[in-house]
Amino acid sequence: MSETETQKVIIIGSGPAGHTAAVYAARAELSPLLFEGFMAGGVAAGGQLTTTTEVENFPGLPEPIGGPDLMIKMREQSVRYGTTIKTETVARVDLSTRPFTVTADSGEYKTETVIIATGATAKRLGIKGEEEYWQKGISACAVCDGGLPVFRDKPLVVIGGGDTACEEASYLSKFGSSVSMLVRRNVLRASQAMQNRVQKNEKIHILWETEALEAVGEQFLTGIRVIDKKAKEERIIEASGLFYAVGHKPNTDFLADQLDADKEGYLITEPNSTKTAIPGVFACGDVRDKVYRQAVTAAGMGCMAALEAERFLADQE
Ligand SMILES: Cc1cc2nc3c(=O)[nH]c(=O)nc-3n(C[C@H](O)[C@H](O)[C@H](O)COP(=O)(O)OP(=O)(O)OC[C@H]3O[C@@H](n4cnc5c(N)ncnc54)[C@H](O)[C@@H]3O)c2cc1C
Repeated sequence: MSETETQKVIIIGSGPAGHTAAVYAARAELSPLLFEGFMAGGVAAGGQLTTTTEVENFPGLPEPIGGPDLMIKMREQSVRYGTTIKTETVARVDLSTRPFTVTADSGEYKTETVIIATGATAKRLGIKGEEEYWQKGISACAVCDGGLPVFRDKPLVVIGGGDTACEEASYLSKFGSSVSMLVRRNVLRASQAMQNRVQKNEKIHILWETEALEAVGEQFLTGIRVIDKKAKEERIIEASGLFYAVGHKPNTDFLADQLDADKEGYLITEPNSTKTAIPGVFACGDVRDKVYRQAVTAAGMGCMAALEAERFLADQE
């Protein structure tokens, strides 16, 4: 492959969305070039699943699979059908004229279509003990991890006061013995309906004006040192699970505002489609999805993006 040759499809990102797009584009004989990133957005090539131990909800895998193992298999499948992969982070793109220009360490690449699958990074709080207990009790995804045996019938804590935090607390109340929500202010930011749902749930307790200071434990998390800001008192609350619901940052800095995004930075596409406002540019997976944020939904959107890119190219001929 030469840098000067115009590609049919360049895929940026290497999570489930990027690799599914790659498999579909490769099988459609579009010879995709995929930039998998090098610690882009703070995540290894392979995306967010490389940061988790067990995935139990990806279809077709009756036994739990390690997140990194699942991503190695997806990568192998992409390569098997003819995807070229570069372990580089895309620094910038120029979407003002087609063919588009994609710039990475090894140079500039021209392409007829671009599929953006760069995912999102869960925001962290940086509290003491966070590194040590990340994935040993601390998680950024209640739907992914909440049902794991280590959290069943155990006291759980959610940090956040928005819709996601309320939704995650409700979900976790099915598994935990109790769920404490740490809310920084004395009000929830969530919609009234979500607030009602949380307040009616007997397992959920809201700790107002309370912030986490430290995650404590032994091999695994056992508690959180918190501060009650009103009483100015510190104490340790028991917790086997700590779930962050403080938002995600979509990985879009390299786009330099060339594509429409919502106020949280998620890319905007046409409804039920991965088409952005620029013909030939598609966005799929967590970089455009703040609702479902699952491997299987990201993969589904990756499939849509490749099919839409293929149809776009066919229409150009
Ligand atoms: C701890 C944890 C556990 C989870 N567990 C589950 C689970 O059990 N089941 C489930 O379905 N979902 C789970 N999820 C959610 C799931 O991981 C995501 O929904 C899914 O990975 C999103 O896929 P994606 O392809 O959109 O993006 P990502 O997985 O975020 O991958 C995007 C990739 O693009 C790369 N990238 C970013 N910018 C650039 C650039 N400029 N150039 C090149 N590459 C770039 C990133 O480095 C990353 O590797 C979990 C998430 C977390 C954080």
